[in-house]
Amino acid sequence: MDHPSLRVSPAQFSPITPPVSPQLKARVPAALKPTKMDELTTRADMDVPDNYVEHTIRTVKPLPPLSWRNFHTELNWLNVAIICVMPALGVLAACYTPLCWKTLFFSIFYYFVTGMGITAGYHRLWAHRSYNASLPLQYILAIAGAGAVEGSIKWWCRGHRAHHRYTDTDLDPYDAHKGFFYSHVGWIMLKPRRRPGVADVSDLTHSPVVQWQHKYFIPLILIVGFAIPTLIPWYFWGDAKGGYVYAGVLRLCFVHHSTFCVNSLAHWLGETPFDDKHTPRDHFATALVTIGEGYHNFHHQFPMDYRNAIKWYQYDPTKWFIYGCQKIGLASHLKVFPENEVRKGQLTMELKKLKETQESLAWPSHSDDLPVISWESYLEQSRERPLILISGFIHDVSSFLDEHPGGPHLLTKSVGKDATTAFFGGVYDHSNAAHNLLAMKRVGVLLGGIPHGLLEHQTIPPGQRLMIARYDDINFSTSSSSSSSCLSSSFTYSDTDGSPAPDSSESR
Ligand SMILES: [Zn+2]
Ligand SMILES: [Zn+2]
Repeated sequence: MDHPSLRVSPAQFSPITPPVSPQLKARVPAALKPTKMDELTTRADMDVPDNYVEHTIRTVKPLPPLSWRNFHTELNWLNVAIICVMPALGVLAACYTPLCWKTLFFSIFYYFVTGMGITAGYHRLWAHRSYNASLPLQYILAIAGAGAVEGSIKWWCRGHRAHHRYTDTDLDPYDAHKGFFYSHVGWIMLKPRRRPGVADVSDLTHSPVVQWQHKYFIPLILIVGFAIPTLIPWYFWGDAKGGYVYAGVLRLCFVHHSTFCVNSLAHWLGETPFDDKHTPRDHFATALVTIGEGYHNFHHQFPMDYRNAIKWYQYDPTKWFIYGCQKIGLASHLKVFPENEVRKGQLTMELKKLKETQESLAWPSHSDDLPVISWESYLEQSRERPLILISGFIHDVSSFLDEHPGGPHLLTKSVGKDATTAFFGGVYDHSNAAHNLLAMKRVGVLLGGIPHGLLEHQTIPPGQRLMIARYDDINFSTSSSSSSSCLSSSFTYSDTDGSPAPDSSESR
């Protein structure tokens, strides 16, 4: 553009990048002290090549698939025992152990305590750093999480960070593309077919709580996973056996499958309201069985957000717990992704659905695709078939004569004439539906374009005034309109907002 008001002399601009001043130079080494630099260079993912995923998948061979020949060497038998044998023994023991109400309520309560250790602790605090927890809260979550017997914080977060970074690839340890069973429990029962993609957990290795939990993990799972749920029912209401079977063993199975559902069910069931590039999905049922981790489509888009559910009525007890901890001073710096960007994701998906609907419908021919007909030719052809001129377009109404609500006589009266005024209120102000239907009957455009003073709402059918276009469609429309002839340009309009092309106004 060469508009005088937009011309600014170079002197009025200050440089975009200010020259590095001596003060700034002096600040750089101070900001990145040698210890900080060392920390950065020891990050596991510091030297990862740009084509890491593709290169690793191509060059590093996975272990052979599981078969009847190799299953005895390829299964992780300890995990098979935990996943299969323990629940079976638990159910068997339950057949011989009466369940009292106190033990039942305690088991449910203990399920939430240990499950929250995973969701609020392992997942949202340590894997995603979505908030800051005070030291007492960190210890509570580390101890509670140990009771879920899902590995130490460090091991769990290593896998989970790889899951987020390499979602739906072979480097994702619980790759949902390998099937529901695999992403649920298969990946635990099988020796990993390949190493999970590189993910940095150096921040966790510097956490004393994480280190402490890693060091004492075995005693912690014995105490929190089995001893406490046995001792509490024994001490308070004399039900040690019930406590062990229901609050210990069976509660543990429920916690396990609750977490596993985040890797399987949350990548399989529900909607994709924020992005559909990958498998994560949102569903209330998943949220219900995972202590609020079921809004997984949101979570994969905004993993640093302390929430999974963003609406107040959605089920996310983990979010409520973290929020409550903030209120009593145990947690701080709860991270929330900017609302504006969250809504952009939602809008994109809504537009995508609407565009699919739009593309499933039939639309009127574009003026560029219609034959240009002179006034004389229009008059001549309208003697052979019922042609009516409205808004510069010639319509063949032969299939509509008997269906016209006002009767065929009003149509036949307009054949060979310009019925623009009659259509738009001169006789009857037609509905949007009538205008849409009329546009479907276009067979040509009148040479000379639309009459002067014709309003935009008369040329563009209502159904096309808010059409969704890809950005490259808009570019195409703009360039074609600028190079087209006077006649066709007078019918060119933007598909996006229905506004006439610039040169159509020039012709008026
Ligand atoms: Zn996931
Ligand atoms: Zn996550």
